[in-house]
Order: sequence, then C-alpha cells, then structure tokens
Amino acid sequence: MQPKIEKAPGEKIRVATCSLAGCFGCHMSFLDLDERLIELLDHVEFDHSPLDDIKDFRGDCDVGLIEGGVCNTENVETLRKFRERCKVLIAVGACAISGAVPALRNRIDVRELLEEAYVHGMGVDDGRIPTDPELPHILERVSPIHEVVKVDFFLPGCPPSPEAFWRVLNSVIEGRQPELTYDIMHFD
Ligand code: SF4
Repeated sequence: MQPKIEKAPGEKIRVATCSLAGCFGCHMSFLDLDERLIELLDHVEFDHSPLDDIKDFRGDCDVGLIEGGVCNTENVETLRKFRERCKVLIAVGACAISGAVPALRNRIDVRELLEEAYVHGMGVDDGRIPTDPELPHILERVSPIHEVVKVDFFLPGCPPSPEAFWRVLNSVIEGRQPELTYDIMHFD
C-alpha cells in the first residue's frame, strides 16, 4: 500500500468512507464488526462518512474507503475529492473494483434505460424523465474507481467480510502492508 501512514503514539487514524453507485452492503459488512468497532475506535476516528453522517471533510484523512462504481458526475466529483483528501485510497468491494452490479447496465443505451425506468416501465403512468438541473448527469457507462483516480489498495468481496475490513484497518494502524488470505475472502 502506498504511501505509508506514520502516526505519533496515541494519535488516531482518520478514516472517511462513501458509497458511490453501491448498495451500502459493503458499509453494512463493515458494521458487522460489531463489538470490535468499539475496539477500533480506540485507534480510528471517522471524518466524512455515512456512518457518522458527517457530510463533508473536516480535514485531511489517512484512509478513504470507497464503495461502489462511478455512474454519474457527482460520483466523479466525490471520488476526486476523496483522492485529494485521503493519503491512502481503498477500493472496497466488487462494484468499486470492477463495476460489478451497477455496470450490468453498460450494454444498454442510457436513454433506453431512462425511458424504461421513467416512461415505459411497469407501473409507470404518464411518466417523464426527470430533468431537474440539480440532478447529477448520468455517465454513458459505469466505471471501476481506478479508471478515474489512483487507488492504493483493493479490498475484494461482495461485500468484503468484516474480518477483511478488520485486517486492512489494523494493518494501517500498525503501519504494515495488509495481507488478505483466501480464507477471509467471500462472494468474489
Ligand atoms: S460490492 Fe456487493 S455489497 Fe458492495 S456495494 Fe457492490 S453489490 Fe453492494
């Protein structure tokens, strides 16, 4: 993992997380650390994350955990901000690593998709495609995050197991390279 994070004794690792085009399953798996989360909080403090509902960065972070692929212009902006603010960026789960589930739409034209969802779809009555200028622009294809920014580490799984999160974050805390063994990988 690049670069190495150096901390003074007792200083906590600052972690930010986000979900781009993901289902939040990776975040749920992280929360499945259960009581180990309390132990983790002795060494980690969260910044911008849906876990603490902090909506923007309060400062630079050591680690950014990114779930989900890149499907719209807002995802690109968020991802670039994470790259700028986080020393180590980790692609979490199959969607962030390869596009996976959200990228299933890549073979279909975006206009056709929107019409199916909002105009012709089952149960849609007098529908129209939303055009509010505040809505992010949908990209032609969903991309894995490494196609947009440099990624330092890939944490595979759909979702990665709680044990995999545990090992990666503890490696960062202890300043070593994470080692993920096959026995803790699943659904990938
Ligand atoms: S990798 Fe799996 S669990 Fe994680 S966001 Fe994608 S579909 Fe959901």
